[in-house]
Amino acid sequence: MRKYVAEPFKIKMVEPLKMTTRAEREEKLIAANYNLFALDSDDVYIDFLTDSGTGAMSDTQWAGIVSGDESYAGARGYKKVMTAVKDIFNYEYAQPVHQGRAAEQVLFPSLLKKGQCCISNMHFDTTRGHVTLLGGTPIDLVVAEAKDTLTFMPFKGNMDIDRLNAKIAEVGVENVGMIVMTITNNSAGGQPVSMSNIKATSEVAKKHGIPMVIDAARYAENAYFIKTREEGYADVEIIDIVREMFSYADAFTMSAKKDAIVNMGGLIGVKNDEELFVKVKGLTIPYEGFVTYGGLAGRDLEALSIGLYEGIDADFLKYRIGQIEYLGDKLRDAGVPLQYPTGGHAVFLDAKELLPHIPYHQFPGQALALELYLEAGIRSCDIGSYMLDVDPVTREQKEAEMEFTRLAIPRRVYTQAHFDVVVEALKTIKENADKVKGYEITWQPPILRHFTAKLKPIK
Ligand SMILES: *Cc1c(COP(=O)(O)O)cnc(C)c1O
Repeated sequence: MRKYVAEPFKIKMVEPLKMTTRAEREEKLIAANYNLFALDSDDVYIDFLTDSGTGAMSDTQWAGIVSGDESYAGARGYKKVMTAVKDIFNYEYAQPVHQGRAAEQVLFPSLLKKGQCCISNMHFDTTRGHVTLLGGTPIDLVVAEAKDTLTFMPFKGNMDIDRLNAKIAEVGVENVGMIVMTITNNSAGGQPVSMSNIKATSEVAKKHGIPMVIDAARYAENAYFIKTREEGYADVEIIDIVREMFSYADAFTMSAKKDAIVNMGGLIGVKNDEELFVKVKGLTIPYEGFVTYGGLAGRDLEALSIGLYEGIDADFLKYRIGQIEYLGDKLRDAGVPLQYPTGGHAVFLDAKELLPHIPYHQFPGQALALELYLEAGIRSCDIGSYMLDVDPVTREQKEAEMEFTRLAIPRRVYTQAHFDVVVEALKTIKENADKVKGYEITWQPPILRHFTAKLKPIK
């Protein structure tokens, strides 16, 4: 049995949690129309809805919050962020923005023209959205192993280089605006991308003169996986792995709400293309505000400049990835089906396997998420047919390739005992799996329904 990697920190501030009874949770779910996004967070005991912006900042970051410089122009925090980006990523230019999607909104118009494709190992939702808004076509070319949820493979997030070459030949180089490498591959379950794959992708990009952008939300977790899984990196410092990963790209966008452990923040990095950086600054002003604050308060810039370093601390990463592996291994030992190996930030439960009697159009991933809340006040999220909208033309329910329930783990927030509560809850659910009911939708908006749809259990 895998040992829990003890926390490399101690706790000096706590946020009390409200304990609820099953009867109370039943009522809360009715009031929320069986949509977990509609719950008050006060009624949630363990919140695994997302790891985005939900991490706990350190005392050093909070000290930065207090000493933050709120000047409109030329604030101290801006300089600290610029210096950190130069040091960690070895990029000449940086632009803070308020979150990851803002980085996409500001950077992409300078790289992608209407009618062009954007090729990625896998687009995150907002990345896909911004490509589409610019009149581009997002294309995902993740390796086939990403779909195998049972076999250990070290880098299931990789780009399929053969298909990348074939796709560029098929559509024509002039029709590919950019290549986006998402590390870790969020939509494939936080699966990492190897250094050799980042390098091989950049060689293809360079050969054709296509700009390569890293979607860097979980760059530190990806670096840790390279250190522990890829030959030749065991003795390389995390910061040097990060520098090598980013040396292969021309620019990056980052949601700092993940590995940079801030509650709000984002970044654009530009390696050395001054002309591109001038365009980035030009669009930052109308969209995000003056360049030295980029949609953030001065205190947020301070916290970001510190969080960028805390996120790449080797002891922190060992604990962080170890925590996810601990949860995954304990669940596997209990016979709870899940995507294996676990990724960097989340455990993906295989709801189709656990609840085989619930067909896709009764949303097994959502049914399991609701059951987890009822059982122990744990909030998670469907990544399956419920999250997929109906076909825009036929209005028919589409079937997702996988029916997952995602447990996304906030950074530095929950302890080993919390994880054990989750394991116990899932054991109980597994024993009574045949009694779990499917759901039907009683109301839904035209797009992105899973945030606001209303549901009810099927009798
Ligand atoms: C979260 C995320 C984004 C978007 O960032 P926000 O801060 O939520 O706007 C983009 N790409 C990836 C891979 C992400 O995980």
